[in-house]
Amino acid sequence: MPDGPVEIAPPWIKERRQPERARYDVLVHKIEDRSKDVAVLHLRLPIGRRVPFSAGQYVTVMMAGGDSRNYSIANPPHLNDIVELHVRRVPGGKFSDRVLNSLQPGSMLDIELPFGLFSWSEDVSRPAILLATGTGFAPLKSMIRELIQNRVSRPVHLFWGGEREADIYDRTLVETWAKSLPWFSFTPVLASPDAAWAGATGFVQDAVLARYPNLSAHEVYACGNPVMIAHASKLLTERGALAADRFHSDAFVFSGQAES
Ligand SMILES: Cc1cc2nc3c(=O)[nH]c(=O)nc-3n(C[C@H](O)[C@H](O)[C@H](O)COP(=O)(O)OP(=O)(O)OC[C@H]3O[C@@H](n4cnc5c(N)ncnc54)[C@H](O)[C@@H]3O)c2cc1C
Repeated sequence: MPDGPVEIAPPWIKERRQPERARYDVLVHKIEDRSKDVAVLHLRLPIGRRVPFSAGQYVTVMMAGGDSRNYSIANPPHLNDIVELHVRRVPGGKFSDRVLNSLQPGSMLDIELPFGLFSWSEDVSRPAILLATGTGFAPLKSMIRELIQNRVSRPVHLFWGGEREADIYDRTLVETWAKSLPWFSFTPVLASPDAAWAGATGFVQDAVLARYPNLSAHEVYACGNPVMIAHASKLLTERGALAADRFHSDAFVFSGQAES
């Protein structure tokens, strides 16, 4: 707790033009179980509607009683008549358990979009390191697909962390990118792998530092677990020489009022 006056000075201020935000009733087109605890929701906007957004932004899903939850948009901005959401099922969670279990193809959801400032910086000249844990992959998927669509070929290395192999729930797609795109690399990182796992182990931020001990020329984008983001920010700036203003992040903190 501060015990005196506190001055908060942002290191930089940048004006960004926000796309226009709007609220829609969207159709649940498909619900895919990608792993034991990750569901991918495919939503369709009303016919003829397209919503401009930046890769990395999120939607707010409205729930009965005025509560709401945030979910990152996983589809790229050129596919803007649909919304793809990756939802990790939290046992007892109001949206990710109860509402999600009540949905089926044909159900409607009330969403507002787009929100958030997490997206590519304007400095496209630097190599980018992307860190995800779990469904933190969702906004990064949108951002990578945007680069593919725009034929931008800046070096990008995605490190995706989970407990076990099943947590890297879109691995086949990402490995396809790594094989076909010369500028894209992929390292899955498991904290509690099976004995057969031959890949990287431990925490995702440690795997980044082991591979890139000097990040002074890089930009980093981290998304998912707030604890990972706090540790990654400290580790990569203090030990990896990453400039603090080139660490971009979106922490998946609880976005609603948990019930008492
Ligand atoms: C900007 C932003 C983007 C987000 N994007 C995504 C996304 O793309 N995919 C995604 O899955 N989530 C995302 N989240 C988190 C999401 O908004 C919800 O907070 C989460 O799904 C839990 O909501 P719920 O209604 O299911 O659980 P709640 O009813 O809010 O929580 C029920 C209880 O579960 C526990 N709990 C809730 N969340 C967690 C958690 N993450 N880990 C452990 N325990 C928990 C708490 O004890 C809580 O009291 C994002 C959050 C933010 C702020």
